[in-house]
Amino acid sequence: MLKKWITAAILGITAAVMLTACGGGNQQGEQTAQPATKIKVATSFNAMKEFVQVVGKDKVDVVTIIPDGTEPHDFELTTKDMKALSNADVFVYSGLGMEPWADQAIQSANNKKLLAVEASKGVKAITNTDEDEIKEHGQYDPHCWLGLNEAQIEVQNIADGLAKADPKNADFYQKNAKDYIAQLKALHDQYAGKFARVQKKHFVTGHAAFAYLCRDFGLTQNSVEDVFADGEPSPKQMAALITYCKKHDVKVIFAEDMVSPKISQTLAAEVGAQVKQINTMESSEGGKTYLNAMKENLEEILQSLQ
Ligand SMILES: [Zn+2]
Repeated sequence: MLKKWITAAILGITAAVMLTACGGGNQQGEQTAQPATKIKVATSFNAMKEFVQVVGKDKVDVVTIIPDGTEPHDFELTTKDMKALSNADVFVYSGLGMEPWADQAIQSANNKKLLAVEASKGVKAITNTDEDEIKEHGQYDPHCWLGLNEAQIEVQNIADGLAKADPKNADFYQKNAKDYIAQLKALHDQYAGKFARVQKKHFVTGHAAFAYLCRDFGLTQNSVEDVFADGEPSPKQMAALITYCKKHDVKVIFAEDMVSPKISQTLAAEVGAQVKQINTMESSEGGKTYLNAMKENLEEILQSLQ
């Protein structure tokens, strides 16, 4: 009798354990089949996309409006781009005139839930000096993500935006931003001393995208094309660039794929300099991360000044 009871009890327990195990299995299966909803983030260009990804990680789905290989300063918004915004939860753009189409895009999207994040809000903006540029493109130099100090502000603004759009994961976004900001700061600090120790401070790039980087490290840029990559230099401007390179003993001309690379080569040949690539992160830089691309920029500029 007792034996029978024990056998029955064991069978019962086994069945219960199996049921529990199956139940657990089912729950896991359901979780795999229905993952937590990611927030949809539309970004304007490559650097914004990466900042959103490092902050949002697996909790965001990110699309970029300006396709890789398109010069962002020449970009014109299409109906397809507006559709991306009408489906998004968050739109992250850098601002300061980098995306003159942003306001129109936000309005046309007609998306009540869309949260627009202007990542550069609160940065110490650099003012343009050329009158024609100001007339055509506005008061500010937009390239603030290329300054490691300003990039920290952009990442924080993005974290605040994602936290607002998705409050239950706010701590996650803030922690990721904090970790990444620490890396940006470390890279800045690593190079601040190195640049302070070199005598030469002048370098030449494809377009004038590095004013914020220059401010961070006490450097001066000159460029084949202007702040907004508006066209190739005139013969007179080219002659002035040659004089500049000779005067400042410029040994490397930094070139960009999307901005008059041939003119950069001609200039380099003229002054006996090497041509090297520089990363603006306006478009994907061959899959390099922002931190790697930025470190490469700093190391190459530093070496060119030694
Ligand atoms: Zn640019």
